[in-house]
Amino acid sequence: MRDRNLVELVGIHKAFGDNVVLDGVDLSVTRGEVIVIAGPSGSGKSTMLRCVNGLETVDSGEVRFDGRPVTPGKGLSALRAQIGFVFQQFHLFPHMTVLQNITLAPVKVKGIAADTARTTAHQLLERVGIAEKAEQFPADLSGGQQQRVAIARALAMDPQLMLFDEPTSALDPEMIREVLDVMRDLARDGMTMLVVTHEMGFAREVCDRLVFIDGGQIVEEGPPAEFFANAQSERAREFVDKII
Ligand code: ADP
Ligand code: MG
Repeated sequence: MRDRNLVELVGIHKAFGDNVVLDGVDLSVTRGEVIVIAGPSGSGKSTMLRCVNGLETVDSGEVRFDGRPVTPGKGLSALRAQIGFVFQQFHLFPHMTVLQNITLAPVKVKGIAADTARTTAHQLLERVGIAEKAEQFPADLSGGQQQRVAIARALAMDPQLMLFDEPTSALDPEMIREVLDVMRDLARDGMTMLVVTHEMGFAREVCDRLVFIDGGQIVEEGPPAEFFANAQSERAREFVDKII
């Protein structure tokens, strides 16, 4: 069924001890939709992303991916293979070349033939603009290049969904653009994306929907232009004033 929501969060709650981090979050994501998740530090953005691919379990409510509940145990690794995750810190394997970083999971997890995986990896490196870096090690690359390798590595699994958790927050300013450009192209190619970012220019230009989260709740959501021009809640307006 191609028309059902790819991701559904239904009334999810999550606490760490006494700290209530997600307090009744509902969100439906359709295929091809690009959602930016914004909000103050500590508001639960990373936890929400981690719940989507089962890196965190919810206390109550339900997470569904492609119609199936995301629950611990059997099936979780198969589900994760369909979801790419790009972090603030690039988390590349330092002792492997760029090419090896990208081919590892397709070969080990999906059982793809090594030469096929290499061909795909070269195509992905071309796509993220660093075809010439295939045989380098992560330490030889700039932060922006490493993050583009991380994106290529996630794409090598042919995911249905890409999660980005502040992918440009660890980068020097001059490298932010090159990573956002890759993400914008990916969005235009139809990838479903959930992006936690403070880059409001990117949100304005690329996303279909901006979700503003504060205190573990979605306070406001809508088209980005509407959010920036006309945020309804006090908390969202304060956030917009501070960030723009
Ligand atoms: P954000 O990404 O919006 O900055 P997070 O989802 O990382 O927020 O964190 C929300 C709250 O949950 C914070 O108070 C944080 O300290 C807490 N938290 C996140 N992960 C854990 C964890 N594994 N154990 C305990 N507390 C956590
Ligand atoms: Mg975070």
